[in-house]
Amino acid sequence: MSHTRALRPGATACSSRRWEQAAHPYAGETAVLATKHDKLALIAPPLWRAIGLRVEAVAVDTDVLGTFTGEVPRKQPPLETAIAKARLGMNAAGAALGLASEGSIGPDPAMPFVHSDLEIVVLVDDENGIVVWESHASWDIVAGSASVSPDEDVGPFLAQARFPEHQLIVRPNRGALRPIYKGISSVGRLTAAVAVCAAAATDGLARVETDMRAHACPSRRVVIAGAAERLAGRLAARCPACGAPGWGRIDVLLGVPCAWCGTEVARPRAEIDGCVACEHRQTRPIVSGDVLADPGECPHCNP
Ligand SMILES: [Zn+2]
Ligand SMILES: [Zn+2]
Repeated sequence: MSHTRALRPGATACSSRRWEQAAHPYAGETAVLATKHDKLALIAPPLWRAIGLRVEAVAVDTDVLGTFTGEVPRKQPPLETAIAKARLGMNAAGAALGLASEGSIGPDPAMPFVHSDLEIVVLVDDENGIVVWESHASWDIVAGSASVSPDEDVGPFLAQARFPEHQLIVRPNRGALRPIYKGISSVGRLTAAVAVCAAAATDGLARVETDMRAHACPSRRVVIAGAAERLAGRLAARCPACGAPGWGRIDVLLGVPCAWCGTEVARPRAEIDGCVACEHRQTRPIVSGDVLADPGECPHCNP
């Protein structure tokens, strides 16, 4: 999975003198963060600390690009959605430098009862034609849902959902799409919403689920902050050839020879670092050249 992207694939190390200065190119600059859900406190501090970039929130309706509740389906993959979101904010503010984040939360494909959260934070620089992004994943996300009747004891579900720190959404379980109550953080509102939604449903039940919006879900905020921290570190790293920010891992090379037969086992051998602005690449070994793989992992010796 590539972490960087050259928007001008033909660019070479000498095509721009923009990055040659010793000071970080974004120090003292301002980027606008497109957010509807209070992410400034998560994303601004690490960027300020790492590279002196100021971040200002610009309120835009990012819901047009997709919502967790499914009322607006996300049309593009997460990275493209994050880039589109950043540009919404840049257009609204008339800025050339923008930030946005996008989360993907769902059952982990490998562990169906565990939810994973992958958060992407992206920086879009339309003046220099680069996009830099990083991601952070967590399996500590609080996510769950239950179909309940108005007289049911929801105590165990509320404990599991870490309510009220994590807020809830209530809607009819079957037959009706509305009403939807979001951002519920009190038992009184929850009880009232369950009664109304159960009455509106064809099966007499309300669907109660965790509200995954960033301001309503503290366990998600931690992951967004982690992704922002990684983006800050990546932006602080500059290309050894052209000086552009965003230098770092773009690929992994597999292939460690089996100790018995020499067949290459699909284990990481090296990482490839790359630049977002030029074609410069460097291979960085992560195991020394004399390391051999366990024959137990070898498709030939242990088929
Ligand atoms: Zn072998
Ligand atoms: Zn470069």
